[in-house]
Amino acid sequence: MKQETCREASFRGYLVNGLPAIVPGDDIAGMILQRVELQDHDVVCIASTIVAKSEGRIRSLESYSPTKRAAEIARRLNKDPRFVQAVLEESVDVLLDSPFLLVVTSFGHICVNAGIDQSNVDAGNVLLLPKNPSRSAERLRESLGGKVAVIITDTCGRPFRSGVTGVAIGCAGIGPLRDWRGERDMNGRVLEITLESVADEFAGIANSMMGEAGDGTPVAVLRGLFYPASGGELFMPQDKDVIRAILKR
Ligand code: GDP
Ligand code: MN
Ligand code: MN
Repeated sequence: MKQETCREASFRGYLVNGLPAIVPGDDIAGMILQRVELQDHDVVCIASTIVAKSEGRIRSLESYSPTKRAAEIARRLNKDPRFVQAVLEESVDVLLDSPFLLVVTSFGHICVNAGIDQSNVDAGNVLLLPKNPSRSAERLRESLGGKVAVIITDTCGRPFRSGVTGVAIGCAGIGPLRDWRGERDMNGRVLEITLESVADEFAGIANSMMGEAGDGTPVAVLRGLFYPASGGELFMPQDKDVIRAILKR
């Protein structure tokens, strides 16, 4: 790299190797501490999948009794009615029920199928998202010594963009938004609205390291990144969410 014209703006990312298949009751924080020497301000990104598994958020499809509404949506979407029932039970609002189920989860995350996964899970079972990912993140952060940031990630699709990306569905020890308001741009104009979702940006980096298939690497540690310690919220408040309002019209 040309030293005169390039400034090193480096961070490091580490994938935690050798984590087993996670089962209910597993101490994820303990498993991480056994394998990594964490430093203060590290960002420990953990796939929601293993947090959910450790919290016992696995259900057999058989345990669901579909309502008439679930059966009707399932017929239209050509899905298992018990799967649709699971999605509805994890949701507080349905924004779209065709051509896919776009819902608001009980903790405020808007996503397809309430984030319920059937990949990296035994057949016949579904894996629900953690009940309250930010609370899980708090708990994990405490167990990791309280000096790092924790982000619970999930892979999500987005409107307007092709493809899926990692997003933060819960966090602790990091303010999800970096507030640029009041800073000046290159022309001296004061920024008035820019809130940068650093938690999602970090989740994107981590998710790209973890992989989506059989890699077996659900934990990525990011070191050397700048982030606010607090401030901001992950999910857009309902009264500010124009698109959500339009979908409900
Ligand atoms: P999600 O993005 O949270 O839905 O999780 P994914 O299913 O995409 O998995 C993310 C990463 O975690 C991939 O590398 C998976 O192989 C890995 N993974 C999923 N479950 C487990 C598990 O129980 N143990 C281990 N070691 N890796 C897992
Ligand atoms: Mn997922
Ligand atoms: Mn994923």
